[in-house]
Amino acid sequence: MSICVLNCATMAPWFPRWHVGTPCLLIETNRGLVLVDTGLGLHDYTSPSPVVRLFRSALRVPNDPGLTAVRQLIRLGYQPEAVQHIILTHLHFDHAGGLPDFPHAQVHIHQREYDALRQPRSWMEMAYDRSHFAHGPHWVLYERPTDKWQGFDALRLPFTPEMYLIPLFGHTRGHCGVAIQDENGWLFQCGDALPTNAQFDLTPDWLNQLAIGPHVPRLRAWAAAHPDVRIMAAHMWLSFFETYRATQPFVSAAGG
Ligand SMILES: [Zn+2]
Repeated sequence: MSICVLNCATMAPWFPRWHVGTPCLLIETNRGLVLVDTGLGLHDYTSPSPVVRLFRSALRVPNDPGLTAVRQLIRLGYQPEAVQHIILTHLHFDHAGGLPDFPHAQVHIHQREYDALRQPRSWMEMAYDRSHFAHGPHWVLYERPTDKWQGFDALRLPFTPEMYLIPLFGHTRGHCGVAIQDENGWLFQCGDALPTNAQFDLTPDWLNQLAIGPHVPRLRAWAAAHPDVRIMAAHMWLSFFETYRATQPFVSAAGG
């Protein structure tokens, strides 16, 4: 079993220090390939909606369709149809944009996130882009916690290796982290509940609370108490991807 970490959307604001990628995870399971978050999709580059065009411009997203999950999969030797299931932390454009590139896949999300898409209420829930869902995804919805995972409420996902949705509501109404077990232990994708620079974050708590929800202090304390768990945020420095490619066998083992 291997987990491949792909950067499926680069954001390059004016300060080079702040250039980040968007990790999407490709996992071999008993039910075929599973993708956790999709990044931007092909049509976000070729014919972006006004919303995506606005965000791409504001976040200075380079015009690089080669970063889409579907193009990277093909380069790794897979057919797009091999991705049977997609798990999403939430439905923002930079996480769900690739859905139309995998129209056959089942899409696993929390019920509350689906409800937020249907009836957005907060300003954060305005960053959904309808074009990403126009093909009519096959939704698989989860509502009630079934387990505990390392102290968190957890919803078991129907795959081997073991995986859980971890409710971390706040950034959006149904935002979740995803915990995945592999031969090296646990990987915890905290999504947009954790800032990119979580260890050295200078952002005041009130601003984190407003933009990414209330979980930062708890996740920081939890991470310090669980050094054995690999933790990542929804956006990581570009150097993260280079470092992992060079040092982590679970990344370079992708595709074989
Ligand atoms: Zn988001």
